[in-house]
Amino acid sequence: MARWARALRVSAVLFCTAVPVRAQSALADGTDMNWDGVLTGLFLGLLLFSVAYNAAFFALLRERFLIWQSARTLAYFLLTILLSPLAMGAFLPPDSFDRQIWINILFDLGIVLSGPFLRAYLEPGMIGRRHYQLLGWPPALILLTTPAVLMSDPPMLYFAMRNLLFTAMLVTAVGAVVVAIRRGSRTARYQAMAWSGITGVLAVSLFHDIFMPEPFRLLLFLLLPALGLEVILTAFGILDRLVRLRRDRQEAQAQAEAMRVIAHTDPLTGLPNRRAIEESYGKEPPVAIAIVDLDHFKAINDRHGHDVGDRVIFAAGVALGSGSAMAARIGGEEFALLFRCEASAVAGEAERLRQRVGSYIAQMVPSLKRPVTASMGLVHIARDTSFGAAMKSADINLYAAKESGRDRVVFIAAA
Ligand code: GH3
Ligand code: MG
Ligand code: MG
Repeated sequence: MARWARALRVSAVLFCTAVPVRAQSALADGTDMNWDGVLTGLFLGLLLFSVAYNAAFFALLRERFLIWQSARTLAYFLLTILLSPLAMGAFLPPDSFDRQIWINILFDLGIVLSGPFLRAYLEPGMIGRRHYQLLGWPPALILLTTPAVLMSDPPMLYFAMRNLLFTAMLVTAVGAVVVAIRRGSRTARYQAMAWSGITGVLAVSLFHDIFMPEPFRLLLFLLLPALGLEVILTAFGILDRLVRLRRDRQEAQAQAEAMRVIAHTDPLTGLPNRRAIEESYGKEPPVAIAIVDLDHFKAINDRHGHDVGDRVIFAAGVALGSGSAMAARIGGEEFALLFRCEASAVAGEAERLRQRVGSYIAQMVPSLKRPVTASMGLVHIARDTSFGAAMKSADINLYAAKESGRDRVVFIAAA
């Protein structure tokens, strides 16, 4: 493991130091086209595209991993510019020490940001708690050891700590991806593919560094396409993840809507229930409210059975639901009506609906020998009357209708 860590460090240092020198010598006269230049240009374009792509998706679906990926990509973007022979005037000349400092900070930052990116990116529940925690802030510790690369003779222990942190980060990230793939994560499979190019290039470079006397000259030539491949495959992975996220959200919304409808509907009549009518009242107070109660309903149950009683309630629901008032079933054989018509039309519409109850029941439940009647308590709604107060007044009127002989409306015009 120590060898791997050493070689990884060597690769990182090579990447950060050898490249500008080579690139600069290739572009000595400032006009020649060369493959490094073309590749660098392509890569920068790709990185900018990736940042724009993530930002566009973030505007649609506010997923944190898009921010982390944009931050990683920006770090790569700045790193690539600093690695190129681009002249920046007195500020950060190509082979200056200041430029090396920034190159190393950005390189480490790109790696550090991969931790929070990965844990936010993988589907919830695909990695364990330990992996999740280790991929949060612990990778940032790597930045404390960045100066070790810039010191001419860093303390051994300091460098060992850096190697240890890099190794731990690598093991954690690989472990998390492997665990997630085992748990069936599609995102982890995409990410494994995305990181395979870089892993391959670094592995070849490590092999070279360990067993060959010369440094690996093709590192940048291969690393830029490998990073490019990472950016492209990660973009595909992100698209796939976002499509699934959107579908999941739509399904959840549809399910929530179905639950909402169920929670607001009476199953026997299909009419809105008490909760629904209370909400409707709160949103748009009506001009009048009524409570309708079937007369001597218990006797129907007793004589014909509960199932016939249900059919009677259903028929009453159809009768009341077919008018201009909003009808709801609020109890056994009790209904509420919200009137939103002209105040002067309320009494007529209320009586029409009350009588319709009897005729619908007679038509829909012909086995009943006697006609069924309904009583109604009706009130006008004064401004700012609460639903509870309005219902209480309507109930008092209903009681009065029952007391005075049933089969009638009692309408006292104040709530
Ligand atoms: P009143 O004229 O004073 O309103 O007398 P009522 O018999 O209609 O009133 P009461 O409150 O005494 O009886 C209502 C009955 O409705 C009692 C209950 O068993 C029955 N009931 C409540 N819910 C349902 C239901 O969903 N289906 C059926 N079939 N019966 C129900
Ligand atoms: Mg009754
Ligand atoms: Mg009743």
